[in-house]
Amino acid sequence: MSDTESRGTKQCVSCGIQVSGMNAARFACPDCGATIHRCAKCRKQSNLYECHDCGFRGP
Ligand SMILES: [Zn+2]
Ligand SMILES: [Zn+2]
Repeated sequence: MSDTESRGTKQCVSCGIQVSGMNAARFACPDCGATIHRCAKCRKQSNLYECHDCGFRGP
């Protein structure tokens, strides 16, 4: 069960928790198009997200 850093990992970009099975938001990075996940808690708090691919930051 080695679940290494695959690009398919669903992790909140703001707090880093696993969001699979949660009511998480999923959207594409406006800059590079990478899929970004953000958990409901961070979405509620309007935390900034940072793209793990290009480093784009946005609300
Ligand atoms: Zn989060
Ligand atoms: Zn990006």
